[in-house]
Amino acid sequence: MKIPLSRPDIGEREIEAVVSVLRTPYLSLGPKLREFEKKFAAYIGTKHAIGVSSGTAGLHLALIALGLSGKEVITTPFSFVASANCILMAGGRPVFADIEESTFNIDPGALQARISPETGGIIGVDVFGVPADWDALEAIASRHTIALIEDCCEVVGAQWAGRRSGQFGDAGVFAFYPNKQITTGEGGMVVTDSDEAAEMLRSLRNQGRPATGEQGGRLAHVRLGYNYRLDEMSCALGVAQLERLPEILAARERVAKDYHKRLSEAEELILPQALPGRSWFVYVVLLAQGFGREDRDAAMAGLKRRGIECAAYFPPIHLQGHFREMGYREGDFPCTESVAARTIALPFYNTMTDAELDYVASSLKEEVASLRSQ
Ligand SMILES: *Cc1c(COP(=O)(O)O)cnc(C)c1O
Repeated sequence: MKIPLSRPDIGEREIEAVVSVLRTPYLSLGPKLREFEKKFAAYIGTKHAIGVSSGTAGLHLALIALGLSGKEVITTPFSFVASANCILMAGGRPVFADIEESTFNIDPGALQARISPETGGIIGVDVFGVPADWDALEAIASRHTIALIEDCCEVVGAQWAGRRSGQFGDAGVFAFYPNKQITTGEGGMVVTDSDEAAEMLRSLRNQGRPATGEQGGRLAHVRLGYNYRLDEMSCALGVAQLERLPEILAARERVAKDYHKRLSEAEELILPQALPGRSWFVYVVLLAQGFGREDRDAAMAGLKRRGIECAAYFPPIHLQGHFREMGYREGDFPCTESVAARTIALPFYNTMTDAELDYVASSLKEEVASLRSQ
């Protein structure tokens, strides 16, 4: 049996929505963008939503719009690489703070210890769909009057303390790559309550053309901007996926529960928790303390031999090539490194069948049991 790591859930309504855009003269900056932005902002509960061409593009622009170009920004080393690369893209300096093993999210104490007079802002990440400790992050940002960005690329639909993910800090950034909860192919959305930031974001994504109220026409460029627009086909797909979001989230929660039932007696594994308010992005198991990188790699190789795709989410960002060149080394962030050596992301998508779940779970149990006997 061949089982992929992820698989988008695209129905006939989505296909129809994309095709109908192609029958209109509007393929970019048209009515579907306005509709997607309006509905997304309403769902998240922010005043504005600004569609962009990817989550990475959204993070890049959020940093610029909040005045963090060239500044020092603190973030987590345990995330997808884009959440730190965006700081480099904006000409700034990434500073890392280690994570907590219980949530894989940034440790507020470690974050506080990294604050210096040079700190311009913070990017908090909701890793694997689990909200970070936003009470603590917002308190730190306001105490030091620095900007706060929520990288919510993995957490659409989640809640923290009764507020929906995306509402925290000065701006939030979502992503719609095909492995996320909802997809537009490529795409992203920046959400904010600030009128000023929203205007700046709309200008920056569209080649620095003037936002409403500024002087100039189509060929006036009042600042350095980018082509980070989200096309109409993507927006039509996004609107149709957003309508199905509750159903998609429920299906993902069911798959997570089904995994839990099948894996809960495996002593070698620490399973992801159904924390209240979380959104299921991926299903990542952790090998118990005492196991190391070689055990994890052996288990993953065994799964792949059986046709089961899996991934080591995430390699520590500070140990990627360009960060090593900046001087980072093994041992810099012990919790991140210990977790990153023991994680396995299993196949996870809302259309997974019982037969697929049975096969992955029994294969994984056999692979980890054989680690003990070696
Ligand atoms: C997916 C993701 C991104 C980037 O999104 P793209 O749309 O792929 O550019 C950024 N941060 C995190 C945490 C992500 O998971």
